[in-house]
Amino acid sequence: MDIYSIAIDGPAGSGKSTVAKELSDRLGIIYVDTGAMYRTVAYYCMKNGISTTDGKAVAEALDNIKMDISIEDGVQRMILNGEDVTGLIRSAEVGQGASDVGTFVPVRDRLVEMQQEMAKKTSVVMDGRDIGTVVLPNAEVKIYLNADVEERARRRRKDFLAKGVDEPLESVVEQIRRRDHNDMTREYNPLRKADDAVEIDTTGLNVEQVTEAIMKIVNEKTGKKTGEK
Ligand code: C5P
Repeated sequence: MDIYSIAIDGPAGSGKSTVAKELSDRLGIIYVDTGAMYRTVAYYCMKNGISTTDGKAVAEALDNIKMDISIEDGVQRMILNGEDVTGLIRSAEVGQGASDVGTFVPVRDRLVEMQQEMAKKTSVVMDGRDIGTVVLPNAEVKIYLNADVEERARRRRKDFLAKGVDEPLESVVEQIRRRDHNDMTREYNPLRKADDAVEIDTTGLNVEQVTEAIMKIVNEKTGKKTGEK
């Protein structure tokens, strides 16, 4: 098997990005964070006075967005029209904006195509909401991560605190519920577990435990082990 893909989907705060990063380190393959791409589109709109809920305006804005992705020391950097916006797209507001722009067909079609191109060239672990269902339906490994909403909110709150932002837990729970609702009920490519994905409930599990569980599946499906490309 030359090129293989690992698809990881799940709701906000289910631990996708942390675990995907760990898997990419162990396997020596690229980690693609597709949420960052939706966030970059939202950030462009928010910065340029374009409402993230206005489908026509967002679709038009796509023509003015040149998005490049570079991997530096295993970290994905998002370059928007020549500017590195990696650190600027992580706020809760941009997250909600990403969820808004992700409901529009032209946005999804454009980003999905970019994601598919990346996975054609090299082995990837890719996380998002529609990776196992739409982007990489033939991925060798498909995982759907989930966890209690309270636990997901506690994880998000910890991330915010690490960045010096102190949000009350109830408000983070509320944000996550809103985003889940948006992501699961949108008409085009909603968040859904692929029929052939393995679901893992990460409530009460640490990163090591979840990573080990997935590595076992990766090994069964691809024969790959830690440290093997
Ligand atoms: O994963 P992250 O929180 O960065 O994603 C931000 C938002 O981008 C999600 O809430 C979702 O609406 C959207 N998204 C998506 N499809 C993906 C990845 C993210 O719709 N593959």
